[in-house]
Amino acid sequence: MKKIRMFGAFILTVMLLCSCQNTEKTNMAGSDTVKKISDKPITLSIYQIDMDAFDSEWPVFKQAQTWTNIGLKGVLAKSTTDADQSFNMMMASGDVADIVVNWKENFNKYGMQKAFIPLQDLIEKYAPNIKKYLDENPEAKRFITARDNNIYYIPYVTDGKVQMTWFVRQDWLDKLGLEQPKTVEEYYNVLKAFKEKDPNGNGKADEIPYFNRNVGSNYEQSVTPLLMLWKAHSEIYVDDNGEVRYGPLEPEFKEAMKNIAQWYKEGLIDEEIYTRSNARDVLLANNTGGSTHDWCGSTAAVNELYKDKIPGFNFIVMAPPGGEEYSARQQIGRNGWGIAASNEHPVETIKYFDFWFSPEGIRLANFGIEGEDYTMADGKAIFTDSVLNGEKDVVTHLREKGAQRTIGTRQLYEEYEVQWLNPIAKEGAQMYLDNNYVKDMTFVGLPVSDEDQKAASAYYADLNTYVREQMQKWVLGTESVDATYDKFINGLKQMKVDDYLALMKKSRANYMSK
Ligand code: CA
Repeated sequence: MKKIRMFGAFILTVMLLCSCQNTEKTNMAGSDTVKKISDKPITLSIYQIDMDAFDSEWPVFKQAQTWTNIGLKGVLAKSTTDADQSFNMMMASGDVADIVVNWKENFNKYGMQKAFIPLQDLIEKYAPNIKKYLDENPEAKRFITARDNNIYYIPYVTDGKVQMTWFVRQDWLDKLGLEQPKTVEEYYNVLKAFKEKDPNGNGKADEIPYFNRNVGSNYEQSVTPLLMLWKAHSEIYVDDNGEVRYGPLEPEFKEAMKNIAQWYKEGLIDEEIYTRSNARDVLLANNTGGSTHDWCGSTAAVNELYKDKIPGFNFIVMAPPGGEEYSARQQIGRNGWGIAASNEHPVETIKYFDFWFSPEGIRLANFGIEGEDYTMADGKAIFTDSVLNGEKDVVTHLREKGAQRTIGTRQLYEEYEVQWLNPIAKEGAQMYLDNNYVKDMTFVGLPVSDEDQKAASAYYADLNTYVREQMQKWVLGTESVDATYDKFINGLKQMKVDDYLALMKKSRANYMSK
């Protein structure tokens, strides 16, 4: 501490003595390459709620302040929990923080109402790191550009592509002399064997072959991941040829639903798939759950919990039985930060944003404080023992320091997570990458007008509810797929699914034209 102050005094003295023209001073205390953004300290207010509200004392942002001379002060009380409400209140009050962390939709909406300033010219002039990133990643630039062709926010970017994977009790496969399933038919046979051949060895047919801890009926919940086995989708998506399609209208959807309903009927899917809470914890702890589709990291970590209690317990990542995985991580964030129109230091602010895209800023945002949280070896940041083996888990520790927050920066996902991720998750994610299983078919569009946007949201809400309810009826067997499929399609048509699809195609074309 003393040393840093001394350096600070030294720099100040040198500055006064040489009265340099250049206002960007190298700060020797923390890094030999980060330049001060302003000679005089500047404090900017920031609105951020990323689970918890921005804390002005976070060491990571204090460090950034030491380097850049820009300090941040959170505008929200620590007790704030409601992100939507607090954001809406701030926007309604007209008293907007200098820097706002929020979502693309809000930046674009309020940006077009002049509450946030366009950033593209500032980026061009003052933000070489961000400019370089956007030049090298035209898809990111397209993604963050609003329909008036302005850019209102700098996104949070991550490089990890794999987020969810399939899991299976490898010890059960071994016990039954089965291979990991490589096709849908083999997966069916595995689930059937789990159901009928008593792999947990208690003499009862109590095994629950497929389960999902997410009980809702949205994307990635309950039976929805099973749609992937038949290359089906339950929502709007973009196919291999770039065509926009509405999943439930496609023949694959009917095929998938027929099979899923049959699997449920045969007891291969958790009977309580729509109602059981905490299925992952409950069914693995009591040694009855066989296979699921879930977040790779946290699901691999359950092995630590049960390996001592259940002899041989080995719940590992398997390749997608359908050969494709659609749960790609959104790499260019819908979240990020923007500059309020009332901010009196837009140039310094964009330079500050640029700092977080510099190597030093990215390291700070990902790994925390050098010497405390990580040390450098061979050009790489390596977490210290206190982070890897401390009382708190790695993510909690880092977030309490202000690192791993969703500001406009780049998350070096693989570099950061690879250090603490369970080997099962690490190898599993790598297997998905090496085999190119992950296909990002997520629809991204850009409505041409407010009216189009509102209409699309209304259609989406109606159609989504209708599709989810019908899927549940089919799975639970209250209606047969064959007998009611045509009625279902007619229902979609009555709800103007064709108009919705046309809107989404128009939105996609507009997006691709940017
Ligand atoms: Ca059993």
